Amino acid sequence: MNVGVLSLQGGVIEHINHLKSLGCNAVEVKKISDLENIHGIILPGGESTVIGKLLKETNLLDPLKEKILRGFPVWGTCAGMILLAKEIENDENTYLSVMDIKVKRNAYGSQIDSFETEKVIEQVSPNPLPLIFIRAPYISSHSNDVKTICEIDGNMVAARQNNILATSFHPELSKNLEFHKYFLSMCNKSKE
Ligand code: GLN
Repeated sequence: MNVGVLSLQGGVIEHINHLKSLGCNAVEVKKISDLENIHGIILPGGESTVIGKLLKETNLLDPLKEKILRGFPVWGTCAGMILLAKEIENDENTYLSVMDIKVKRNAYGSQIDSFETEKVIEQVSPNPLPLIFIRAPYISSHSNDVKTICEIDGNMVAARQNNILATSFHPELSKNLEFHKYFLSMCNKSKE
């Protein structure tokens, strides 16, 4: 299976390595033609404002948005979640605007802006998963179509709306591959 990683800025290589560890052909997506022949795409962490600007400059924004609206599997981690959101609490811009979520950027303030915890997420794995947060957003509101995957301290930090998966944290920064496996199963189902 071929899975793309949006490769404009941010934590690209870690996702590519995880996909390769799972026997997947990881494709760097930098231009429109890279969107052909992939079965899903990961939007990495980084700076949402920078990645959003580059999405527009490379003309990737509209074709990617159309694909997602037609059911193409996508997973946004951290900044990637912000790119997917239809509303951003503390930013006037929106980017792909495909997921019915409102997100708060840098939601954890300066004191605990980066932290790590562990949690069992039953949809993904029976074992506790390491969750690494780096200047992370969380989901402050959402429509009924959006299903919770994980909450921490009452805040939604992972969610799914059909073909769209979003996590505030960074599974690619731990050795654990379970979240990538979960996304690959979404890609497999949509391929069939
Ligand atoms: N704080 C970043 C933003 O708002 C996201 C951080 C990350 O992706 N690790 O875009």
